[in-house]
Amino acid sequence: TSISAADLETLELLGQGNGGKVYKVRHKQTSSTYALKLVSNHSDHTVRCNLSREIEILRCTDSSHIVRCEAFFEQPLGDIKILMEFMDSGSLETLLKDNGTFSEAKLAHVARQVLSGLNYLHTHNIAHRDIKPANILVNSNMEVKIADFGISKIMSLTSEGACSSPVGTFAYMSPERFNKENCGGTYSGYASDIWSFGLTIMELYVGRYPLLPPGQSPDWPSLMLAICFGEPPSLPEGASQEFKSFIEACLQKEVGKRWTAGQLLKHPFLSDVGF
Ligand code: ADP
Repeated sequence: TSISAADLETLELLGQGNGGKVYKVRHKQTSSTYALKLVSNHSDHTVRCNLSREIEILRCTDSSHIVRCEAFFEQPLGDIKILMEFMDSGSLETLLKDNGTFSEAKLAHVARQVLSGLNYLHTHNIAHRDIKPANILVNSNMEVKIADFGISKIMSLTSEGACSSPVGTFAYMSPERFNKENCGGTYSGYASDIWSFGLTIMELYVGRYPLLPPGQSPDWPSLMLAICFGEPPSLPEGASQEFKSFIEACLQKEVGKRWTAGQLLKHPFLSDVGF
């Protein structure tokens, strides 16, 4: 079925990011709801490059753990609209704010789905590079999906790619990537995604960004000290051994010791849950 832009009725603004505004829309004929991301034509080369990369990735991914794209519309003035499936429960960031921290059982369910999405991306040579609570969306069927490929990278392209890739959110950056962005060097996009994923899962359990003490503002020097020189954070006393070991496997500062998405999917923390 092909949907045309004229068949869509705007309902409300869902969110606004660096890339553009995201609206909830309704398809007039079928009454189905979707999310529509609007990106204005931009003269900036980097912004245009990011958008074409995001579209390229969304076009070629087909996984039940990655937000599905239904259509792309190019407008006369060069604006672009991306029609996506509507994730009606919002992001992990808003769920944490609204409902409080997640139980281990819930987190095992979330982690399994995000890791399936990451495993899909990594085996297709794509590094997401901006994994954080705000970029993981949930729907009322309890499905968890990875979104926002604005700064993702297709690793099989030459290391520089067609355009220089911009920097994502510092707070969730792995130590090796933080060093690369700030001091030069190399890092693995895949292992970096796993660090960000581990930090994300931990944040949902403890209820705050885990690398800084409560109340500390996430300014650049504090983040730099915590990410590059701090010990990786560990879970509080009450957490199960399996969960502690799972988080430890994600938050290894040494890339060689960090588990891959495929390995983590077989971790005991994910195997004995009643979902
Ligand atoms: P940006 O790349 O500019 O940060 P995002 O793609 O992350 O933009 O979208 C911004 C916000 O819009 C998200 O945090 C989320 O709240 C909302 N959003 C994005 N895509 C969807 C979707 N498919 N379903 C529901 N809400 C969405």
